[in-house]
Amino acid sequence: MKLQSYLLHNYKNIPQINLLSPEQLEAIEVVGNVLPFKTNNYVVNELINWNNIENDPMFKLTFPQRGMLSEFNYNLMLKTLKSTSDKSEIKRVANLIRMELNPHPAGQMEHNVPEFNGEKIEGMQHKYRETVLFFPSQGQTCHAYCTFCFRWTQFVGMDELKFASKEATLLRDYVSANKEVTDILFTGGDPMIMKAKVFATYIEPLLDSDIPNLQTIRIGTKALGYFPYKFISDDDTDEMLHLFERIIKKGINLSLMAHFSHPVELETAAVQTAIKRLLDIGVQIRTQSPVLKHINDKANVWAEMWRKQVNLGCIPYYMFIPRDTGAQDYFAISLERAWKIYQKAFQRVSGVCRTVRGPSMSCTPGKVQILGVTEIQGEKVFALQMLQGRNPDWAVKPFFAEYNPQAIWLDDLKPAFGEHKFFFEDELDEMLLQEEYLQAG
Ligand SMILES: *Cc1c(COP(=O)(O)O)cnc(C)c1O
Ligand code: SF4
Repeated sequence: MKLQSYLLHNYKNIPQINLLSPEQLEAIEVVGNVLPFKTNNYVVNELINWNNIENDPMFKLTFPQRGMLSEFNYNLMLKTLKSTSDKSEIKRVANLIRMELNPHPAGQMEHNVPEFNGEKIEGMQHKYRETVLFFPSQGQTCHAYCTFCFRWTQFVGMDELKFASKEATLLRDYVSANKEVTDILFTGGDPMIMKAKVFATYIEPLLDSDIPNLQTIRIGTKALGYFPYKFISDDDTDEMLHLFERIIKKGINLSLMAHFSHPVELETAAVQTAIKRLLDIGVQIRTQSPVLKHINDKANVWAEMWRKQVNLGCIPYYMFIPRDTGAQDYFAISLERAWKIYQKAFQRVSGVCRTVRGPSMSCTPGKVQILGVTEIQGEKVFALQMLQGRNPDWAVKPFFAEYNPQAIWLDDLKPAFGEHKFFFEDELDEMLLQEEYLQAG
């Protein structure tokens, strides 16, 4: 039988739904009207353990849960659904609640959009010198939706302006003109939702024009986690793999930045076959995930995940802190706990698994890594460093914040030792002002 990604936008079409309690069904209905929901038959049949729904990480990762909304907002939506079937009224209430969930964290939409020949290139983001992010317009959805996702607003139709572009030639021209760029990172959504033919329209101009500075094409994707059949038996699997081969034969590294949140996602025959096929043609697979309460907030889960990844030939790459958006309260753990999970997991694996960097927050100044909690001259502090900075010179410079056991994001931290600002703040303010000025002009 050939497996397809039957998209299940409506949970009522899933036979296993009968296994859920009335409370669970209500929660899916209520929360699902605020946060996006989408799954497919692979996630439902091969990843979720329907006999242990109360504790199943894959269920919580993809199905809306009651705790994802505050008590107040939950009851507000419940009351609305009970009192009306008017779609526009439900949507109005949903949008009110969404506005409270920090729909656009860390300047995702407005910052770092590059210009070329005096024109802003929407669908591109150039924040760190070597790497350009590209958001192909047909890649802005996913095989299934993660309930923690910081891109959730684009799935619920709130964004007028998705980061999206059909401008394959603009991408090529921009990378050709900016010699410091070595990497293009295709992202979304999930670019691997695209058909091979569509993806080829972005890749071919890059291959045809021999850009000497272009060393690596990366694809940020959850397809190995949520739909590995993409690389085994989809309509155009062979065409996609052939396109990958052409990139590699051209001498460009091709790296799948594969998002795996739990070891279960590495256990099916399908994912293992898909990984093998990709490695066989020379694709590199690097792995990343946020650390999430209810899903993977245990050192053993991470140690097991890294070991499994390495055994399958993948390279552990990043552990992230979930962004301050959407159902963050449900998923967030303190920065201190995130560091402890990283530390303990790291201590339990051999050096070949220790390629992973983290825990790291993608914030306005850069990717900030928590090095740990320590004490300096009697003051308990967080030691931090940037792995990437808006100014490349900011990277790998240790800095310190007052210890705060509740902190879950950089905004919750204050500089240590009575200082008023972190070392990068003045320069960052300057950069943001400059950007605003350019935008206004
Ligand atoms: C993470 C990220 C990158 C890639 O960073 P690497 O450390 O090279 O993996 C590029 N651009 C943005 C905006 C990012 O957040
Ligand atoms: S696969 Fe990635 S972009 Fe898609 S919903 Fe999950 S976290 Fe978000």
